[in-house]
Amino acid sequence: MSTLEIKGIVASVAGKQILNGIDLTVRSGEVHAVMGPNGAGKSTLSAVIMGKPGYEVHSGEVLLDGVDLLAMPAWQRAQAGVHLVMQYPSEVPGVSLADMLAAAFRARGRGTNGLIAEVAAEAGRINFPVALLDRPLNVDLSGGEKKRNETLQLAVLAPKFAILDELDSGLDLDALRDCAKRVEDASNTDGPSGRLGVLAITHYNRLLAELHPDRVHILVKGRIVAAGGPELADELERDGYEAFSEGVAAQ
Ligand code: ADP
Ligand code: MG
Repeated sequence: MSTLEIKGIVASVAGKQILNGIDLTVRSGEVHAVMGPNGAGKSTLSAVIMGKPGYEVHSGEVLLDGVDLLAMPAWQRAQAGVHLVMQYPSEVPGVSLADMLAAAFRARGRGTNGLIAEVAAEAGRINFPVALLDRPLNVDLSGGEKKRNETLQLAVLAPKFAILDELDSGLDLDALRDCAKRVEDASNTDGPSGRLGVLAITHYNRLLAELHPDRVHILVKGRIVAAGGPELADELERDGYEAFSEGVAAQ
């Protein structure tokens, strides 16, 4: 059982304070949704957890099983077991998916025997066309194919925690269902790192219809203004973010 703890995070980007004290704990096998309007700080939260350069953390901690992640560069955080599925996956010309995964496995001290077969099996599982496996990473893939590709990487790497930054943006309903189902399965099945803990950052309820969250947190202007069970997402769908924004001072 692993724990990802976000404690009192205050952070800024480009001299502007965006996160105003975020507290959130995810354990193995749990799915937490963070929902918020555009500009609330959702991507900033994912960037701070993962260690994207350019973000300044003024106070607070991010701990993986008690170990300080903020002291590590992004690649070390990934090796420690935190994986970010980016909102806009990068294209990496010249690097194949298989090469990238093999390098990641070696960096983690994991053998690469059987990796190709595993990638093919995972591709079948999420309906990612096998013909696309030889493409350079994400190059010339459609929005939906990119997200399937990212989900495939997540499934093969089997980290302790996955942060999904708008997994649902840019993909059609079939791709959304396939990707969400794969993540949901990883959260319910023991893998090499136990059951996957998930922080699913999203704008819309539709992801959550497929990826059943245990907890829903609503982020408005860099603060979590409400938290509760899955019913909170339904309330949000009905009432909109406005209902949750009252009382949050403008920055
Ligand atoms: P969300 O993902 O919830 O839509 P973001 O975390 O991307 O929100 O952005 C939060 C706020 O921070 C926005 O007002 C955005 O314009 C600002 N912001 C994000 N990244 C940068 C940056 N690199 N430089 C300046 N402002 C930024
Ligand atoms: Mg965003």
